[in-house]
Amino acid sequence: MTGKILEIENLTVSFDGFKALNQLNFSMDAGELRVIIGPNGAGKTTFLDIITGKVQPTEGRVLFKGKNLRNIPEYKISCLGIGRKFQTPRVYLNLSVSENLDLAVNGKKNVWSTLFGKASSAENRSVAGLLETVGLTAKANFPAALLSHGEKQRLEIGMLVAQSPDLLLVDEPVAGLTDEETENVGALLLALAESHSIIVIEHDMEFVRQIARKVTVLHQGSVLCEGTMDEVQSDPRVIEVYLGQESSLSGHQLKILRIIEAIALQDGELSPEEMASIAHQLSLVFAEKIEDQSKLEEELKDYLLQEVDTSIPEAIAEIDDLEDRKLILKVSYQAIFKKAISSEVSTKPNTYEQLIQLLELSPETVEAIQNEVE
Ligand code: ADP
Ligand code: MG
Repeated sequence: MTGKILEIENLTVSFDGFKALNQLNFSMDAGELRVIIGPNGAGKTTFLDIITGKVQPTEGRVLFKGKNLRNIPEYKISCLGIGRKFQTPRVYLNLSVSENLDLAVNGKKNVWSTLFGKASSAENRSVAGLLETVGLTAKANFPAALLSHGEKQRLEIGMLVAQSPDLLLVDEPVAGLTDEETENVGALLLALAESHSIIVIEHDMEFVRQIARKVTVLHQGSVLCEGTMDEVQSDPRVIEVYLGQESSLSGHQLKILRIIEAIALQDGELSPEEMASIAHQLSLVFAEKIEDQSKLEEELKDYLLQEVDTSIPEAIAEIDDLEDRKLILKVSYQAIFKKAISSEVSTKPNTYEQLIQLLELSPETVEAIQNEVE
């Protein structure tokens, strides 16, 4: 398959005036595995509800393989080739694993004929294939009730695949799973991604790292940013609204760190001494309590180890506060330029002049900062 499997244009969903989705734009290629993350209330579930036709848009439209889904009922959308796996498994507990898969393969038949009817060999083959795909061949004849939570999740993914959807929607597949089962589900989704288009909604960041190629971050009903896991994880806006719950740095502080990092990287590398000095000095300023300082210093070093491509002029233009600009100059001078300027052999002093210009600090301020550091 080629082209776009899903395009969403200026989508708004209002519930009594509250916009659960707000002018959202999204597009995805056929064959892509896309992970969607975002804080609680960001609109992730509503996003899936819109695609499956459970909820109708207030404004905007959803195109599936180029077809507008407006006013198409939920069951017809499912026939068009969109399958959804809900968060909690919905398998028949008293049927065996292979009977559950068989039911899914032969959606039109009822439970009775699945139990007592004679399956054709083609159907058997596909059930056997599905058992293997989801790694449950050894448990084919177990009642589903005896499966672990993770095995049930895999069974349900298998039941979804049995209906051969073109697009699979998977809502939080590893919530409550053990580490080992989380890995199994991840491996299964990666294997399925070779022949399906898949959207996975997920909270578990370790898991997202395991499977993600491209990540979309939702926030307040809109797309906040998109990119690789590394890109979104180091985006200050994402830190602020989402990962910020795990980080002691604010998005603003991260921005300052990224600018100083970019300045240090101008000659192509960030030496261990530079890294240590930057992390130490910023931790002294950023830590709210003295006992937080050493932990923050380690965290800052971790951020510096992921080298992010930051445009210095653009990033500095976003720093309004004079104190922040002075901090950038001070840390850059002490960590990066001081040695180079005194030895007078490096190309760095030139970069330093450019930095002073970009920061638009008065000569007095620059001199005061240099004297403070000396
Ligand atoms: P997420 O799945 O990202 O946590 P949801 O899509 O469930 O977010 O919800 C987005 C926002 O829309 C939330 O603030 C939620 O309270 C609100 N919301 C969702 N469904 C409804 C509804 N049927 N009626 C009113 N508000 C809703
Ligand atoms: Mg949700």
